[in-house]
Amino acid sequence: MSNKTLAILKPDCVQNNNIGKVIDHLLNAGFKIVAMKMVKLTKETAGAFYEVHKERPFYGELVDFMMETRVVPIVLEKENAVVALRETIGATDPAEAADGTVRKLYAENKGRNTIHASDSDENAAREIGFFFSETEIIANK
Ligand code: ADP
Ligand code: MG
Repeated sequence: MSNKTLAILKPDCVQNNNIGKVIDHLLNAGFKIVAMKMVKLTKETAGAFYEVHKERPFYGELVDFMMETRVVPIVLEKENAVVALRETIGATDPAEAADGTVRKLYAENKGRNTIHASDSDENAAREIGFFFSETEIIANK
């Protein structure tokens, strides 16, 4: 099990002034921030990041949403990080998310759901590499 995963604070999190609250939640859940930045995605970069969902009916809506404002990619470290972060953020749809999870507390709906989290060690490695160079990760160790 890898000890790193990628979170992205999504545009609804930024627009609703929840960046600080969500980061605080992640730190209180025992995650360490290894690297973090604020970036504005484009149709090309948001589309490439979510390429795995290309055939899904919500793909266009998802890409447009992710371009609304800047987003905050964060590399997080914890034992068994991928599974731990998925538990901390809760189900995709906040209506189905467990009490006390990030999405239950802050998400607007299934699409505008505040935070992305990698779903496997393999995807975490790809997604971390999508936003951060090796130097940025190592420099923050
Ligand atoms: P998760 O982010 O929980 O891993 P998915 O990988 O299934 O969920 O979907 C990626 C993202 O696409 C979701 O976080 C959400 O923003 C959006 N999404 C998923 N399903 C829907 C849907 N039915 N309608 C609108 N947006 C959706
Ligand atoms: Mg996913």
